[in-house]
Amino acid sequence: MRIILFGSPGVGKGTQAKILSETQHIPHISTGDILRNAVKEKTELGMKAAEIMNKGELVPDNIVIGIIKEVLKSEQCSNGFILDGFPRTVVQAEALDSLFDELNIRDAILVHITADENEIIKRLNGRRACKVCGAIFSLTEIENLSRCPKCNAENSFYLRDDDKEEVIRKRLMVYQTNTMPVLDYYSAQNRAITINGLGTVEEVNQKLISKLKEKILVA
Ligand code: AMP
Repeated sequence: MRIILFGSPGVGKGTQAKILSETQHIPHISTGDILRNAVKEKTELGMKAAEIMNKGELVPDNIVIGIIKEVLKSEQCSNGFILDGFPRTVVQAEALDSLFDELNIRDAILVHITADENEIIKRLNGRRACKVCGAIFSLTEIENLSRCPKCNAENSFYLRDDDKEEVIRKRLMVYQTNTMPVLDYYSAQNRAITINGLGTVEEVNQKLISKLKEKILVA
């Protein structure tokens, strides 16, 4: 299975990608996670990306395209993958298609998860990340917890700079302007399906699985 999870920041792509990755045994490739990791490790890439990410802007196409080329060509992706957060511009979508040609990949499909903008702002502003393992939680999930349920780190929850309200608004604007045209690119080629992202994690997952079944992408 080769899937591109597409949708506004905060729509739940990462959460759904993690579930699919576990149940389908294919890697979850998130350019946001790769970049945040580089920022944490203070690599050259991380230094370049940090400022851009904190402003809610997009990292230059050539940088993220380079990252994705390396990852998709690696052995871990040979049986499939779930892309999360890439492509985010038409230039990235075109570069991805060239890479698919090179790797003889013909079955990649884009899954568009939709949600209401007010709901998204509420969700993003109300989520916390663990600064040790990067896991994301809603405030209710970690209420009264002092340790991360994933990695057990103590007092490690924080509000990501890019989840602050003014940055969220900027990210949503960038999404409308730069990223939405990617959906038209895939729709025009009949390579996109849509599911409604409203509901619990399990409900959205069920919708996702039944849509993928229609496309015979999961058994
Ligand atoms: P995400 O976790 O996917 O929302 O990504 C967090 C941030 O990383 C974004 O706001 C961008 O600054 C950067 N980023 C992630 N993926 C891409 C991409 N495909 N193109 C450009 N910037 C990206």
